[in-house]
Amino acid sequence: MGEIMKQEQIDLVEVLNQKLPELTIEQRIELVASSQGPIVFSTSFGIEDQVLTHIISQKSYPIGLFTLDTGRLFEETYEVWEKTLTQYPIEVKSFSPEADDLKKLITEQGPNGFYQGLNQRMACCSTRKIKPLKVALHGVRVWITGLRAQQNHHRTQLTWASIDQQHDLVKVNPLLDSSEAELYQWVNKHNIPVNKLHNQGYPSIGCAPCTRAVPPGSDPRSGRWWWEQSHKECGLHLNSHS
Ligand code: SF4
Repeated sequence: MGEIMKQEQIDLVEVLNQKLPELTIEQRIELVASSQGPIVFSTSFGIEDQVLTHIISQKSYPIGLFTLDTGRLFEETYEVWEKTLTQYPIEVKSFSPEADDLKKLITEQGPNGFYQGLNQRMACCSTRKIKPLKVALHGVRVWITGLRAQQNHHRTQLTWASIDQQHDLVKVNPLLDSSEAELYQWVNKHNIPVNKLHNQGYPSIGCAPCTRAVPPGSDPRSGRWWWEQSHKECGLHLNSHS
């Protein structure tokens, strides 16, 4: 059974990598949605995810939406989450850290222990993001993300589709070649709700204590974990760039 799954995954990745570059974003979603499910789309309510949410909500695709509520998000993120639910006929499943894990984490390193060092930061990301993500992706066959190659140099190595070994599924990035300007065209044309922080110098928005504004033209992810020298990812998209 495992081997059959693997071959199915390999075949799907091959087809998607071949066909997706030639299609519009809507057609890409349509093609991915025709794959064997369960298919999910993870949103963190950033501009990329909002454009995909808009497209997915236009038809009754068999795509489940979910988000990770780390408990440390910006108020502005909760605001755009609410607006999105008001504007579109969708359900967004929310996954949160386990209470026992949080109790242990905060007891061991305090509420803001992530500033003390990489191990503490990874422990927090693991509790608040990685573990809930694993739960969200359990049993899933296809995972759609809003990753773009232009987001930073790690992500230039992304492909349209790949096998995510960690979660045993096919991961698809339908916005791979999209530019920020293209996303804003979508937002303006379709009145898509966006996080207010994007207009305040936050191209990439994660947890509030770990994200800050960046000067125009900087690496979009340089405002994430700014006190660290090189780590600009939390492990959610590990297989895609390393
Ligand atoms: S981004 Fe910061 S607050 Fe959020 S899970 Fe990671 S370390 Fe914790």
